[in-house]
Amino acid sequence: MLLCDFHIHTKYSDGSVELRRTIDLYGQAGFDVIAITDHVVNGDSLIGKLAHRFRLSVTEENFNGYIDAVREEAERARKKYDMLVICGVEISKNYLTTDKSAHILVLDIKEFIPACWGYEKIFLEARRQKAITVACHPHYMSDNSRDTLYLWNNREKYDKHIDAWEIANRDDVFNVISLKKYNYIANGDFHRPRHLYSWKTLLNCDKRVESVKECIKHNKGVAITLFRN
Ligand code: ZN
Ligand code: ZN
Repeated sequence: MLLCDFHIHTKYSDGSVELRRTIDLYGQAGFDVIAITDHVVNGDSLIGKLAHRFRLSVTEENFNGYIDAVREEAERARKKYDMLVICGVEISKNYLTTDKSAHILVLDIKEFIPACWGYEKIFLEARRQKAITVACHPHYMSDNSRDTLYLWNNREKYDKHIDAWEIANRDDVFNVISLKKYNYIANGDFHRPRHLYSWKTLLNCDKRVESVKECIKHNKGVAITLFRN
């Protein structure tokens, strides 16, 4: 099965490791498929504005440069490690209350999607781009300062738009996702080198972007594993 991590941050947002070194860390650790998913933060709230001020977000202005850099690294990763690298973002709607906040991975994104858009519009635009969407850390976490509960609390309204939910994020496991029988994947939410050792996804499919997206969407041949040093 393919060893995968679909949730990785670099210095393009709030990660501590440069893109190129991040690729090398995962390549040398033997990963088959990864997605680079830097934050695209909403600009319509106080904490969203702060993220922009401290350059912790990909913006409409540097989005194309970000995608080009990830594609260039993807080519290098394929040759050097036979590792597939997918272009993604984590649409991050950050508000003062956890009930209002939500993070959504958009995997295989092609054009910029503003995080201040409404949920419906974001999901429809992701679908138009033939990307897939993943609800990130959807329930209570061990670090409750990172809780984002909006999508779980409004799941009846949005679950038809969400291709998969994170059943595990770094060290946290969300049993509500398995109880609800939602499509699942598990990710490291990498921000610093030690986050390499965390929950991961195993997929039984070809090492191609389209096959990986289909496998997640149909959620057959998916397993999770705790990757430790
Ligand atoms: Zn997040
Ligand atoms: Zn993240």
